[in-house]
Amino acid sequence: MKKISIIIPVYNEEQNIPLLFDKLRSIKAKLNNYALEIIFINDGSKDNSEKAIREIGQTDNCVKLINFSRNFGHQQAISAGIDYSAGDAVITIDSDLQDPPEICLELIAGWEKGNEIVYAKRRSRKDSFLKKLTAHLFYRMLNKITYLNIAVDTGDFRLMDRKVVEALKKCPEKNRFLRGLSSYVGFQTSFVLYDREKRLHGKSNYSVKRMIKLAMDGVLGFSDFLPKLILISGSVIALLGFLGLAAVLIGKLFSPDFPFFYSRLIVAALFFIGGLQIIFLGVIGEYASRIYTEVQNRPFYIVKDLVNFENSGSGGLLI
Ligand code: UDP
Ligand code: MG
Repeated sequence: MKKISIIIPVYNEEQNIPLLFDKLRSIKAKLNNYALEIIFINDGSKDNSEKAIREIGQTDNCVKLINFSRNFGHQQAISAGIDYSAGDAVITIDSDLQDPPEICLELIAGWEKGNEIVYAKRRSRKDSFLKKLTAHLFYRMLNKITYLNIAVDTGDFRLMDRKVVEALKKCPEKNRFLRGLSSYVGFQTSFVLYDREKRLHGKSNYSVKRMIKLAMDGVLGFSDFLPKLILISGSVIALLGFLGLAAVLIGKLFSPDFPFFYSRLIVAALFFIGGLQIIFLGVIGEYASRIYTEVQNRPFYIVKDLVNFENSGSGGLLI
């Protein structure tokens, strides 16, 4: 019997968990031909999410819990689920019911047709205007500047075959952008369309700061666009400077009264170039800080305890 793992990252979702589980139970009834494991990752929630998951786990031992020692972040939580999953196919889905669980059936049907990654692609989404606009622009921009073909209008709601999961486990980077990684590993892909719902309870945990960090992980992790941009702009500025210098010297040579210093222009130009230099240093700094994080080689999540896993009870795991 084939096994399906459903991976659900959780951060402060106590109200959504019982409702999500109800929906998953009705899906389970339709998947009689498969074994199912539902892995919740409690990413250091501050509310009663952990208790809610433990209660469900007592009634149904296909429900498993990976309990983090603190909040490590969405991408890390999904990565832990992937590491601990045993399914022939793995589905990652949000816990706030924005991703309708019924779509899992369509993802599985796509997988059974031989696709190794089946994306759930948003036909529409009920998010704020700003979120929709930034997501729309970001994915299109990312495809232009990266060397990958990252599926547009998809989040982390997708099904992956075991082969894909094993390939992802071999990507050990700490600054994780799973949407890029799942495109990087390749394999045969397809998608199903769905309407992304409003978050049921609670509020989004993706602050603007976190969204920028994720976007930077995508851009820095999968493209050399910024260093190239620095090189090109540096070359253009140097060329302009050279031409300007030549013009001034030639002017002085042919007309001794040539107004040698347009002081305001020079001050403005200095500010402009100074600003560019600081921005460029910032880009290099971002790379340096990412290199440092990789070299430190700390685990990117730490598990406090496991529930309903065969090896559960080995608390304090370092992964
Ligand atoms: N999440 C998580 N850790 C975090 C932030 C979010 O595990 O630090 C989970 C969250 O519980 C949800 C999913 O990741 O299941 C997506 O988060 P959210 O709904 O806040 O993001 P949005 O849908 O607004 O992009
Ligand atoms: Mg959400």
